[in-house]
Amino acid sequence: MSDIFDDIESEVQSYARAFPVIFDKAEGAYLYDMDGNAYLDFLAGAGTLNYGHNNPKLKAALLEYIERNGIAHGLDMHTRAKELFLEALNERIFKPRGLNYMVQFTGPTGTNAVEAALKIARNVKGRTNILAFTNGFHGVSLGAMAATGNSHHRDASGIHLSGVSHIPYDNYMGDRLDTIALMESMLEDSSSGLDHPAAVIVETIQGEGGLNVAQAEWLREVERLCRKHDMLLIVDDIQAGCGRSGSFFSFEESGIKPDIVTLSKSLSGYGLPFAVTLIKPEYDTWKPGEHNGTFRGNNHAFVTATAALDNYWADDTFQQELAGKIELLKSRLEKIASGYDKTLIKAKGRGFMRGLECRDGELAEKICRLCFKSNLIIETSGADDQVVKCLCPLTITKDELNKGLDILEKSVHAILEKEVSKAS
Ligand SMILES: *Cc1c(COP(=O)(O)O)cnc(C)c1O
Repeated sequence: MSDIFDDIESEVQSYARAFPVIFDKAEGAYLYDMDGNAYLDFLAGAGTLNYGHNNPKLKAALLEYIERNGIAHGLDMHTRAKELFLEALNERIFKPRGLNYMVQFTGPTGTNAVEAALKIARNVKGRTNILAFTNGFHGVSLGAMAATGNSHHRDASGIHLSGVSHIPYDNYMGDRLDTIALMESMLEDSSSGLDHPAAVIVETIQGEGGLNVAQAEWLREVERLCRKHDMLLIVDDIQAGCGRSGSFFSFEESGIKPDIVTLSKSLSGYGLPFAVTLIKPEYDTWKPGEHNGTFRGNNHAFVTATAALDNYWADDTFQQELAGKIELLKSRLEKIASGYDKTLIKAKGRGFMRGLECRDGELAEKICRLCFKSNLIIETSGADDQVVKCLCPLTITKDELNKGLDILEKSVHAILEKEVSKAS
């Protein structure tokens, strides 16, 4: 393999270390290296490729747009591509769900959308503090970083991270702690030391934090506390949104109505950088240009995002098909973990965002590395990288899903057999 990556690419490389080959092509649920070896992709751009690599429907729309010299970059000017995207979002997503949001085009990455969300919430409420949860992940720019829990990321900031208080996420200490009661007491006790927050930011399923799931009832309680204590409710749906949870938004099941929602990762559907912050009209108090950015008009992303909405979200066919695959993933993960002590391995997650929580990061790492030897690309998440995370494209076929899960199953058994025999 060429040495150029060692020679001049920064040490900050991460995924590249786990999968040390040079990839060249990709299609659907497969990546191909330079020698033409195929790898089944259960990482899917960390949740960015919900519709698979080079999805033919999205690709066709993009090629046609490029061919006719459609605008590629348009600052935030009105373009035909943006008009069509807004119409599709309104017709296919907002209206059927009874949602009413203003769409802010932020810089193109997730963390940009989070920065905008935190900024508008602070401005609207005239307060600094934001409540975020343990194991939350919201990005690595300073504002979003302050809301992120992970010390590996926080420690790299080099500056004091401020303006956020962290409190326990749902089920943080199991039955030993009623996290809602704690949050309510903290908010009500004028001596708790908690500065009155402008907003609460929450992931309904914590992606990077290890597939922790907030129960629907818990989310409704968080919403109740937001209303009671005059705080905005921000749902960071960057990873769990765009169908990953089984519905377009991850909060649909709970029935909550967030004041602000962030979307990115699979929003363009094609891996093109694109992020938005959705804001209830009454909180859209921005002055013109107050928050800006050069890359808020990635029109190629608008084109593929529109094609994704038109092809997959015009009716519930896609969602119905996905429901079957979710059942398959869930039951197979449970079967893989059955027969082992729950402290050694257990299935967790929700929707098509599921995985296996291992006793420690070392075990999870060994499982992923063994999977890679069988050409399955799969990664870990969680505070100690202890969760093996399946983020397959939503468009994966059941055969491909089973094939990948066969590899995962064999790898888990091979690694855990050694553990069990070590223990006995
Ligand atoms: C990935 C992610 C982000 C950050 O997105 P970037 O594009 O990496 O900046 C923020 N929030 C959540 C929930 C994410 O999964």
